Amino acid sequence: MKFIGAHVSASGGVENAPLNAAAIGAKAFALFTKNQRQWVSSPLSAESIDRFKENCLANGYEPWQILPHDSYLINLGHAGKNELAKSRAAFLDEMQRCEQLGLTRLNFHPGSHLKLVNVEESLKIVAESINIALEKTKNVTAVIENTAGQGTNLGHTFEQIKYIIDHVEDKSRVGVCIDTCHTYTSGYDILSNEGYVETFRKFDEIIGWNYLCGVHLNDSMKPLGSRVDRHNSIGKGLLGIDFFKRFMNDSRFDNMPVILETPDEEIWAEEIKLLYELIEK
Ligand SMILES: [Zn+2]
Ligand SMILES: [Zn+2]
Repeated sequence: MKFIGAHVSASGGVENAPLNAAAIGAKAFALFTKNQRQWVSSPLSAESIDRFKENCLANGYEPWQILPHDSYLINLGHAGKNELAKSRAAFLDEMQRCEQLGLTRLNFHPGSHLKLVNVEESLKIVAESINIALEKTKNVTAVIENTAGQGTNLGHTFEQIKYIIDHVEDKSRVGVCIDTCHTYTSGYDILSNEGYVETFRKFDEIIGWNYLCGVHLNDSMKPLGSRVDRHNSIGKGLLGIDFFKRFMNDSRFDNMPVILETPDEEIWAEEIKLLYELIEK
C-alpha cells in the first residue's frame, strides 16, 4: 500500500502539522520541527510535544509515516572548522527534536563541498557528522536525500550516497530518501522504460533497497541531467503523468512515507487523490 502525503506547514506549532496533513487526505507527512531558515529556534514545549503526539494518534499517523526535514542552512560536509561545528550542533538539535516528538527518521541533504576540499573528503566529513549525531541520540535514523547536484551539492549519484553509508558506523540508523525530481535532473533517466528499470536496478546494486526509508514525489521543471532543483506539480512537469502511474503501481515503494514537495499547496489534496486513482485495480 502507498502512503502519500505532503510537506505540510507547522506554522503555529509542530502540533498543527498532523492536522494540516489530515485536512488534505494525506497518509504520510513531512514537516520542519523548527524554522528552517534560522540557526536557532526555541526548544519544543512539553505542551507542543504532547499535542503533536495526540494529534498524530488521533489522525492515524505512526512515526514511520512521518519524515521530518532538517534546516536548509545545515552543511554537514563543510570543511571549515567553525562552520562545521555550527552545522553539527544544529543537526544534533534537529535529531533531538525528533527524539522528543517520538519520531524515528530525519531527512536531510548531505551537504556541499564548496570547493574547499575534494568530493571524497567532503563525503567523509558528512559521514563523520552523521556518526557524531547518531552517537548522541537513540532511535532516530539519519535519512540521506539524493540531490539534483546543483553547484557543489553532494549526493547526486548513488555512488556518493553509498560512500557516505560505507563510512557510517551504525548502519542500522542510516537510510536514504529518493527525490524523483532530483533523480531525474541529476541525470538518471527514470522517464523511459529502460531508464526506469535500469535506474532502480542500479539503486539496488549500489545502495540496496533495504536502505530506502522514504520518497519525495515531485515532478520536474528542468530536464534530465540539468542538475537544477525546480519541482513541479504532479503531471505538470517533464516527468508527466505516465511516470507517476508507473510509480504508483511499483510495490517497491509501498509502506514508506511518500511526500509531495510540489509548489502549489492549494492542490495537494487533488494531487493525492489523483495519485491514488492511478493505481490499477
Ligand atoms: Zn526533496
Ligand atoms: Zn528539491
